[in-house]
Amino acid sequence: MKKSILTYLTVILILGLTPILQAQEPWIDTSIHGGLIEVKTDYSFSTLVSSDSLNNIRKTLKNLNDAKLYFDKIFETDLDFAVLFIENSKWREHSYFPPPGLPQAGRGNVILGLNKSVVSQEAEKMITQLPTEYWSLLKPVYGENIDLDLFYREILAIHELAHLYHFKEGTQPQRKWLQELFATMSMYSFIKEKSNSSFDIMDTYPEFVLQSGDRMATYKTLLDFEEKYVQKMTPQNYEWYQMQLYSNAKQIIDSCKNDILIKLREFLVNTDLTKNEKLSDTELTVRLKKEVGKEIADIMTNWKSQ
Ligand SMILES: [Zn+2]
Repeated sequence: MKKSILTYLTVILILGLTPILQAQEPWIDTSIHGGLIEVKTDYSFSTLVSSDSLNNIRKTLKNLNDAKLYFDKIFETDLDFAVLFIENSKWREHSYFPPPGLPQAGRGNVILGLNKSVVSQEAEKMITQLPTEYWSLLKPVYGENIDLDLFYREILAIHELAHLYHFKEGTQPQRKWLQELFATMSMYSFIKEKSNSSFDIMDTYPEFVLQSGDRMATYKTLLDFEEKYVQKMTPQNYEWYQMQLYSNAKQIIDSCKNDILIKLREFLVNTDLTKNEKLSDTELTVRLKKEVGKEIADIMTNWKSQ
C-alpha cells in the first residue's frame, strides 16, 4: 500500500514537474549569441551580427520578415526567433555545424553568412570551368560574375526559416526527407506568392543542377539520405537530394492549395519520434496519403533511384 502511494506521488511529482522543466529550456538558444552585436531593425525578431562593418543584410532581413508574416498567417502563429549574420572566420563559435556561410536553423536561430559562403565559392569555381554555353545561362539571373549567394543565402534563408516552424514543436521527424520537403515547399510557396521578383533566382540554379544529371551523386536512395544526411556524404551529393526534393516541391505546390503545407507541418509535429514509434515505409505511405496528401506519399514510390 505504502509503495503504491509512493509510486502515485512520484508520478504526480514527475508529471507536475515536466512543464516546469520544459519551460526552463528557452526556445531561442542564446548560448551562441555571446559577443555578437545587436542591430536595430523595424522587425519583431532580433538581429545579431558578428561585425557591423559589412552592411549587406537589409534586403535579406526584409525578405525574412515578409516570409515570417506569410508563414505566421498560414500556420496561425507568431513565431519568435533570432537572425544571426556571421563571418566565415567566426562561424564555429556561432553556428551548429559547417560549412561557413551556408544558411542553417536550429533552436530558434536562423544563422546566415556575412561573407560569401564557402559553398557558393566552390560552386562558382566549378561552374566557370564548364563550357561557356552552360554558365552563360546563369548570367542573366545571377549577374556577370555569377553570384551564387543570391541563391545560397537569400533563397535558402527562407527554407531555413520554414524549418523553425516545425522545429518549435518537434525536432525528430519520421524522415529527414519529409522535413526537407516541407521547408522547400514552404520556401517555394512564399516566393511564388509573395516575392515573385525572386522567382528566377530560386528556380534557375536548381534547374541548372537538375539538368546536369547525377554524376556527382554516389548515393541516390531515400534510405541513404536518412542514414547519411548532411554529415556522411559529399556536399554535392547532399545537394543532389535537395534538388530532387525541390523538383517535387515545385510540382506539388504548383498543383495544390496551401493547406498541404499546414497538413504536412501537422504531420511532422504529430508523428515526431520523441512521442511516437518509428513508422515503417508502408505505414508511412498509408498515413501520408490519409493525413497529408497522395502527392507526398507518391514521392516514396516514384523516387528516381530506388
Ligand atoms: Zn533544410
